[in-house]
Amino acid sequence: MLFPVLTIKLPDWVNEFLMRRDSPCPDLADRMRLVVELARWNVDHGLNGPFAAAVFERDTGRLVALGVNLVLSLRTSLAHAELVALALAQQIRGNYDLGSADSPPCELVTSTEPCAMCLGAIPWSGVRSLICGARDVDARAIGFDEGHKPRNWVAALGKRGIAVRRDILRPQAVAVLRHYVACGGIIYNPS
Ligand SMILES: [Zn+2]
Repeated sequence: MLFPVLTIKLPDWVNEFLMRRDSPCPDLADRMRLVVELARWNVDHGLNGPFAAAVFERDTGRLVALGVNLVLSLRTSLAHAELVALALAQQIRGNYDLGSADSPPCELVTSTEPCAMCLGAIPWSGVRSLICGARDVDARAIGFDEGHKPRNWVAALGKRGIAVRRDILRPQAVAVLRHYVACGGIIYNPS
């Protein structure tokens, strides 16, 4: 039996998106601004999920990789923005471990706090910090199922050496979620 091959490829418009941005982004708000704008582009270019993420070098703000939600276009529930960004960053680095000592530490910036699936993937990725825009409750407010997450997930990541900062440009990130609803975007939860 031949099984299909799943290729994770960012949309072609991402190149145009990147041409308009300066890199690196030493400032935390600049990193989040890039990610929130990317989420909006993901809605406006094909009505994919209103989520985006990026991996930066933590200390310099150099962009390593981007990710957007591709659940609808790839027809897989696995293609959340955080997982796409982490997988592409690992491919760029040539290492499954973004925390390896021979390369600069990495930071994951996500337009909305990670769902249960992405939260589970973060410690295994090797990133050293996580920056969030919208809150979990903001995604649930427009109908997305974020899954069960431990109440103390921020502290649990901290114990593993992953610093978490929340509410960076949260209003702008929430605006993208609402924009998706206003555009008629599908709330693609499992049935
Ligand atoms: Zn997720």
